[in-house]
Amino acid sequence: MSQSIVVVGSVNADLRVTVERHPRPGETLLGGDGTVTPGGKGANQALAAARAGGNVTMIGAVGHDPNAAAALDLLRGSGADLSGIAEVDGPTGVAVVMVAASGENEIVYIPGANATVGADAVASHAELLGQAAVVLCQGETPADGIARAQALAGGRLVLNPAPVIELPPEVITAADPLIVNEHEGALVARMLDPDADVAALEEDPGGCVGALRAAGCRSVVMTLGSAGALVAEGDDVTAIPAVRVDAVDTTGAGDAFAGALSARLAEGGTLLEACGYAARFAALTVTRTGAQASFPSAEEVAGLRG
Ligand code: ADP
Repeated sequence: MSQSIVVVGSVNADLRVTVERHPRPGETLLGGDGTVTPGGKGANQALAAARAGGNVTMIGAVGHDPNAAAALDLLRGSGADLSGIAEVDGPTGVAVVMVAASGENEIVYIPGANATVGADAVASHAELLGQAAVVLCQGETPADGIARAQALAGGRLVLNPAPVIELPPEVITAADPLIVNEHEGALVARMLDPDADVAALEEDPGGCVGALRAAGCRSVVMTLGSAGALVAEGDDVTAIPAVRVDAVDTTGAGDAFAGALSARLAEGGTLLEACGYAARFAALTVTRTGAQASFPSAEEVAGLRG
């Protein structure tokens, strides 16, 4: 088995504008900064895995438009193999993020080319998926493509269902680990057990992790922001503390964590070792602004104490 990580996921251009307040219907406002940066959970996690030293190949799609180059700006040159990213008709995925002075975001997401990463597109990479040590998926590409990736994965499936989309239970329970935050964990628990009380589980991370395991999940990592993460595997639930840093922007922290974790698992690390590393990688990410632009190098992570 190779040590490669194959990421099946989204590639976006993020258009971020700052506004004093969000516009009312029909209103035109003057914005402050406007920037186009590379994003998409798939691309973010692929970049994090590559920065963490992983041997990464990405399966995804962009459109024939200028946003494609912007979306791949940092992933190109990261060492990740992008030959699995198709160029298709239609637009590259775009997220329009409006950030108000209050800190509250309004986001419009246009999946564009990401919507083509379905079962057939994924199946055309069967050999690659069969040879990968880790196949890493999120929730920004079609569910049938994720299900096909799980079926073709020769190694370990790491699944970060963000956003939470309807997936077959056998795909979710096969994940090793399933990576969720409190909110996503509660929604996935209800997908596996319609009687689950989402509001109660959101308030009780330990209970939610237990419910996910009881519903058949192989292993679960629940990220809890500055409170770190819970790791459930076998009969054990272990708390991984967050590294104490001065956080300035937590954008991309979850993606940094998932990508770095996958890189360590592909190298043969245990889930606990991989989570410890991912916590250090993500901690450095929150000390800088932006998503991909905030990801550290492997050398920086090695130099971080804590
Ligand atoms: P998501 O954005 O998916 O909800 P989290 O906010 O839980 O993800 O963050 C993922 C991981 O990033 C956490 O488990 C933690 O290791 C790290 N992290 C997030 N916020 C901080 C912070 N303020 N200080 C240190 N580490 C953080």
